[in-house]
Amino acid sequence: MNVDNYCGNVAGDENMREFVGKSVFNGIAIGPLKVLGKEENAVKRTKVEKPEEEIVRFTQAKEQAKAELGEIYKKALKEVGEASAAIFEVHQMMLDDLDYIESIVNMIKTQEINAEFAVAVTGDNFSEMFAAMDDDYMKARAADVKDISNRVIAILQGKNGAGNLGDEPVIIVADDLAPSETVQLDKSKVLSFITRHGSTNSHTAILARTMNIPALIGVEYPEDGDGKIAIVDGAKGILIIEPDENTLRKYEELKREDEEQARLLMELKGKPNITKDGKEINLYANIGGVGDVAAALANDAGGIGLFRSEFLYLESDDYPTEEQQFKAYRTVAENMAGKKVIIRTLDIGADKQVGYFNLEKEDNPAMGYRAIRICLDRIDVFKTQLRALYRASYYGNISIMFPMIISVDEVKKAKDLCEEVKKELEKEGVKYGQVELGIMIETPAAVMISDELAKEVEFFSIGTNDLTQYTLAIDRQNPALDNIYDSHHPAVLKMIKQTVNSGHAHGCWVGICGELGADTTLTETFLHMGVDELSVSPSMILKVRNQIRNSDSTR
Ligand code: PEP
Ligand code: MG
Repeated sequence: MNVDNYCGNVAGDENMREFVGKSVFNGIAIGPLKVLGKEENAVKRTKVEKPEEEIVRFTQAKEQAKAELGEIYKKALKEVGEASAAIFEVHQMMLDDLDYIESIVNMIKTQEINAEFAVAVTGDNFSEMFAAMDDDYMKARAADVKDISNRVIAILQGKNGAGNLGDEPVIIVADDLAPSETVQLDKSKVLSFITRHGSTNSHTAILARTMNIPALIGVEYPEDGDGKIAIVDGAKGILIIEPDENTLRKYEELKREDEEQARLLMELKGKPNITKDGKEINLYANIGGVGDVAAALANDAGGIGLFRSEFLYLESDDYPTEEQQFKAYRTVAENMAGKKVIIRTLDIGADKQVGYFNLEKEDNPAMGYRAIRICLDRIDVFKTQLRALYRASYYGNISIMFPMIISVDEVKKAKDLCEEVKKELEKEGVKYGQVELGIMIETPAAVMISDELAKEVEFFSIGTNDLTQYTLAIDRQNPALDNIYDSHHPAVLKMIKQTVNSGHAHGCWVGICGELGADTTLTETFLHMGVDELSVSPSMILKVRNQIRNSDSTR
């Protein structure tokens, strides 16, 4: 894109406005804004002569919407994998929900109104009902019910779906982007997306990362932005509308530098992660689902260092079955073709709430009932996952990792369950492979007893996101404490060093899979400490490789 294309349209300094949000994915985008979702307010109430004909129109539109969702599901399955695609099956089911249908049909009959209006009102009512629920998972369904209702309305009004963006690439702006909208978008026409609502754990955020475009959430954008030139700075989390010429030129330059850097980094594909003095370490990818494997491979990951399996549970309406999980783990293992795939067992609770677990509300969820604590109580749920993992291990190189460990006893119990599962499978004549067992080191307790823990497992992976939170007693979710949440704090670095020493003393290899692993200002420090593996988001792999290759592990 050439800045001169826009300079003619650029307004003076006085029009430039900046809006701050939270970054979901880095990068710079420059282009016109496209505000989505205006049409949904344009549904008018009209009186009808023959309500029964409106009911037929509604039923036909609903069936067409289901058929469209079936197509989107197939497309998403190919592009982003089963876990992310599953939401479109859920949408199909929601369209058959009897309460939802009854409400619409009832309104048409009793109020003698048009189908569009009945669908819009019912969609709003159901959405408000979900939004008012305590449970975060159910709250998130508010966007889904709006999404299916808008789809039916668009069909009733004879409009195109959300994928139709026009000819010019745009920065998409919306209150909330439903997953079916993000996956349908013609990617060649999308420069970035910005939403007012949404969270970093929402489907939309996960899909955005998969689509690899800069994205912000929590932006209070102005309603009059449609068609105006804007800049998205994913790193700083800002949206600049109607930039002045200097700002536009500055960002155009930054964007060119970014592109050049990305091109140079691509030249590192296929090269080893080796320091100047010849020390080689493993560089793996963190993923949230099957759909992220493509990005891991495209960026030359040596393996998967952290598969956050809880996303399978978060994206589902009910406990994912052994078969569903087996398929997901097997697909990842097969696609990674013999490279190591470390799958973390379920880590829900705290910031990741799953409605159907019916967990009690807690005053202090970060320090509450989460991860391995739940799994060791809900043996049925845990064993289902372990069975799926062991079965999938036959098809690749799978390792299992337990989160939030604070005691040797927890590790022993988890290992006993693994043994139980293996025996069951043997009895059933089901084959499984060689599986390494490891734990996450993300509590100060685990660091302090790491010498004992190391005797129980084959590897440690340091979760610096939680380790920082628990070491510094700073809630990682609290934006007001962002400025003192310091992963470089000497206490955190000493914890990492102690973990590496204890692990090595007992034959355990030690990696880092928290965000700090991708912090290139610390790469050399980690090499000095003797860290064996870094697991980072796919987009950071080549940057970290570059840093490793410019480091000296002896200095
Ligand atoms: C961590 O705590 O550093 C980690 C990798 O796990 P999560 O961010 O999923 O809690
Ligand atoms: Mg963690």
